[in-house]
Amino acid sequence: MHAIGIDIGGTKIAGAVIDPDGTIVRDLRTPTPAGAPQLIENAVVEMVTALSAEHDVVAVGVAAAGFIDAAQSTVYYAPNINWRNEPFRAKLEARIDLPIVIENDANAAGWAEFRFGAARLVSDMVMLTIGTGVGGAIVASDTLFRGGFGAGAELGHLRLVPGGLLCGCGAHGCLEQYASGRALQRIANELADAGGIGQNLARVRAERGRLDGSDIAELIGDGDLGALTALRQLGTVIGEACATFGAVLDPQMFVIGGGVAQAGDLLLDPIRHAYEENLSARGYHPEPEFRIAELVNDAGVVGAADLARHFASRLPAGHSAPRK
Ligand SMILES: [Zn+2]
Repeated sequence: MHAIGIDIGGTKIAGAVIDPDGTIVRDLRTPTPAGAPQLIENAVVEMVTALSAEHDVVAVGVAAAGFIDAAQSTVYYAPNINWRNEPFRAKLEARIDLPIVIENDANAAGWAEFRFGAARLVSDMVMLTIGTGVGGAIVASDTLFRGGFGAGAELGHLRLVPGGLLCGCGAHGCLEQYASGRALQRIANELADAGGIGQNLARVRAERGRLDGSDIAELIGDGDLGALTALRQLGTVIGEACATFGAVLDPQMFVIGGGVAQAGDLLLDPIRHAYEENLSARGYHPEPEFRIAELVNDAGVVGAADLARHFASRLPAGHSAPRK
């Protein structure tokens, strides 16, 4: 019961054959073609053809950033690709003789952590992926939460600050504007401007002409007070948001993923602290665990493949048998 997972990212398309335990059997990657969406479709078909030629597979799951409908079929909107109401599943089905599902990339990553990673022992979890933006995934009662139209669990667009910073989604004050990798850069630049504990941030910015995520990560690794302060401010915002999510969803675990999560406990400690400070009725109910994601770069392909395998196993008999 192997399945193929494909993860269409902004810069690369990753594809892999995944076994039922979530292990990668074979993987491929190719740069994401710029320009017409047709080129991305072609690249996905080529990758599936190559992978399914070598292994018996039962289904294909494709993860991409964007709003995907509840039927895991149509991409309403993708921020990185020129897709608007793209019937991507139907297009792939016309060219690939396997059951196919399309899934939001954050949902796929969250599902992978729930099935095989940090949250494999719980039934209810919330995952936040702290990358360029903030991705979200919810598993409630062992089920991936998609919402009625498929566009649920967009946790990065929780309104945190009424009338706050303009978000790429068109609203103001979204969590993403205060808790993403980009937000960390903004906080670090503000500290650099202010001097004092930000003096090393300012020095690196002057030397390199920039202060990006890798520069900040380097200073965090050096134990620089300014960089650590920026990370703590970011963690505080994330922890405050988790308290809000906790009040609604009561998960046993929050999983924090994405590039910024490589900071480990340096990020988790302020998240936990802010969560406790902002928890309603603290001390009167069990509190969740906070953990760093385990699958890191592979979560998208692993989760997409596993969701596709589940989808295929629910099809009427005759559709779930390996076809090649
Ligand atoms: Zn937003």
